[in-house]
Amino acid sequence: MNEDDYKTEKKKEAASFNPTGFDPHSLAELPAPMLQWIDQNGFDIVFVCDYEGIIHYTSSSITRLLGYLPEEVVGTSSLAYLDSCDVPVLRNRFESTTEWPQRFHLTILDNRGKHIWMEASISLTENQGVPYYVGVAKDVSDKKEIEEMMFRSEKMSVAGQLAAGIAHEIRNPLTSLKGFLQLIQAGISRKEEYYQIMVEEIEKIETITSELLFISKPVAENKEPETIHEMLQDVITLLYSQARLQNVQISFEKGENSKLLCDRSQIKQLFINLIKNALEEMPNGGKIDIRQRQEGNDCIVDVVDEGPGIPDEVLAKLKEPFFTTKKEGTGLGLMICTQILDKHNGALDILRNETKGSTFRASLPISL
Ligand code: ADP
Ligand code: MG
Repeated sequence: MNEDDYKTEKKKEAASFNPTGFDPHSLAELPAPMLQWIDQNGFDIVFVCDYEGIIHYTSSSITRLLGYLPEEVVGTSSLAYLDSCDVPVLRNRFESTTEWPQRFHLTILDNRGKHIWMEASISLTENQGVPYYVGVAKDVSDKKEIEEMMFRSEKMSVAGQLAAGIAHEIRNPLTSLKGFLQLIQAGISRKEEYYQIMVEEIEKIETITSELLFISKPVAENKEPETIHEMLQDVITLLYSQARLQNVQISFEKGENSKLLCDRSQIKQLFINLIKNALEEMPNGGKIDIRQRQEGNDCIVDVVDEGPGIPDEVLAKLKEPFFTTKKEGTGLGLMICTQILDKHNGALDILRNETKGSTFRASLPISL
């Protein structure tokens, strides 16, 4: 028997293999005990809500994942189990999209009051003309822990790489402070004027060191209303010294000052990673444009560089962890950017500039 004949024979065998006495072509046709097993042991929670968010069905797996009994939650509002921060974002996305399913990262309250990180995929469907949301949600807490470890190591590596530029930036005001102190020691007049300059120099040092401390602090997820201009300005301050060392100019074009419900430290980390990548593409100077604007319900930030651009073979691998083309690279920067944006229900697009270089575009939903 040749190989093809063998395969045909096996297929026939499989088709006639029917020891259980049923012939299912879809999940719905499985016998009740099997459906029940899936209902109880699935890794996901399957749920159905009406248009107002009232829960009509949840699989029994909810008891294992969140501690509730299905009959406890049926009839209640799904919004009661969500973080209040996530509700407007969800509502906004549901109202503005026609593409289903939609994917979300959410924290869900379990029956002991603990917030569980879940990833949900939700679609709008209808049954006899009545619209319903059908979704599955899975626990991603373990994944979160690993992500946080990576976050921390990438943050420390960024802090380390920036240290040289920052030390340089701090040395200048220190030198002038020392000079003024020596003048005052020598009994010079016009002391008041010098004091003022000294305070300004100290403030410069303060801004830089506090930004550095900020990025090396451990991550704690904490979403608050923030404005985009201030966050971007802080990031530019932090990277300014590095840019100057490399003869790169950073320009900031501001649009409407969008309000975001976000974790400030993560959004800063996102832009540090993007601008740092742009800087690393231009070791011999150039210009980075940061262009921010509001478009519909999104705040868009473009980080535009004048580097050599991204070759096709690199583009495909860009968001993979540990992919780097740099000697000192970690290959985690862009992956972390994608994760931060995911967690804020935003997106990262990578575009090729018409002339030279690339544009990394972050879109984030504004808080209404
Ligand atoms: P790392 O910077 O440590 O290499 P990233 O995840 O930040 O890791 O970036 C991955 C790779 O993507 C880089 O090594 C580089 O090849 C490419 N890349 C990132 N940003 C740019 C950019 N602005 N222009 C060209 N290539 C880029
Ligand atoms: Mg990087």
